[in-house]
Amino acid sequence: MPPLWRQIQQENFTKIGPLLDFLDLSKENRERILLKSKFVLNLPLRLAKKIVKNDLNDPILRQFIPLIDEDISLSGFTLDPVQDCAFQKTEKLLHKYHARALILTTSACAMHCRYCFRQNFPYEKKIKNFEAETAYLKKDPTITEVILSGGDPLSLSDEQLADLLRTLDAIPSIQRIRFHTRFPIGIPERIDPSFLHLLASSSKQMFFCIHANHPRELDEEVLEALKKIQRLGISLLNQSVLLRGVNDSEEALIGLSQTLLNAGIIPYYLHTLDPVEGSSHFVVSETRSLALVRAMQTHLSGFGVPRLAKEEPGQLSKTFVMNTDA
Ligand code: SF4
Repeated sequence: MPPLWRQIQQENFTKIGPLLDFLDLSKENRERILLKSKFVLNLPLRLAKKIVKNDLNDPILRQFIPLIDEDISLSGFTLDPVQDCAFQKTEKLLHKYHARALILTTSACAMHCRYCFRQNFPYEKKIKNFEAETAYLKKDPTITEVILSGGDPLSLSDEQLADLLRTLDAIPSIQRIRFHTRFPIGIPERIDPSFLHLLASSSKQMFFCIHANHPRELDEEVLEALKKIQRLGISLLNQSVLLRGVNDSEEALIGLSQTLLNAGIIPYYLHTLDPVEGSSHFVVSETRSLALVRAMQTHLSGFGVPRLAKEEPGQLSKTFVMNTDA
């Protein structure tokens, strides 16, 4: 019998027709939907239930619904905007920055976000182990932090994750492990006793970075699941992407930070959009982005204001976007 979270995952909307019916979309609104999108629809039922019926401006819906705007082709929008492929050292490992390496644990996610910069990544799907990746990490002791990403690392089974964590545990040069996941936002049942046990079993310092863009994603059940991780002594961070029509308002961003802070989660990064093909309708101008961060600064404690950052391929770190006015 698969675990409860796998059973719940079966309820995801993966076909557009049933979702449009579920949302009671009018004929006029349906004309704005891309019926055959390259990046397939994938939306957990509990997120779909939060969406206001027949409202294409709903901030949750906009993150997951393929709009005809995805067909707009703009220069500067590419298949691999952060040049992941240039930093691929093994089939499943990216090494971009000093001291950190990222493992693409899986191609699978609990949901498909329309702005995802990795939606075209040529994931290796046949090799089920991480032998090449662990060999790379063992050979380079300057790597002290491993990021478990994907896809979403929580898509792996607990057995696969436990194996991976055990292997990483045995590499002395690795000091920290950072999970990057959006899974609990869609299926909080993923944080079950078995998963908590495997987190607690690692001897490395763990960080757990979630990815929420709007305060409505963080309901009581999601926060209660995350609290169980915090009770293990694991720090929680959040990173968001600044998206037009989703969270490009003072109300959404301040509300998100307040919700996170009240739950003891540090707002870590507010990323500018990585220009992946088909996402141009999400762009927020730099001037507007900076004005929004300024507004957050006036309403929140310093540690409640995430760093506005962008990824510029080839740079030694993420670039902080800052107001250069005197
Ligand atoms: S959960 Fe993360 S990796 Fe998966 S589609 Fe969304 S942004 Fe991309």
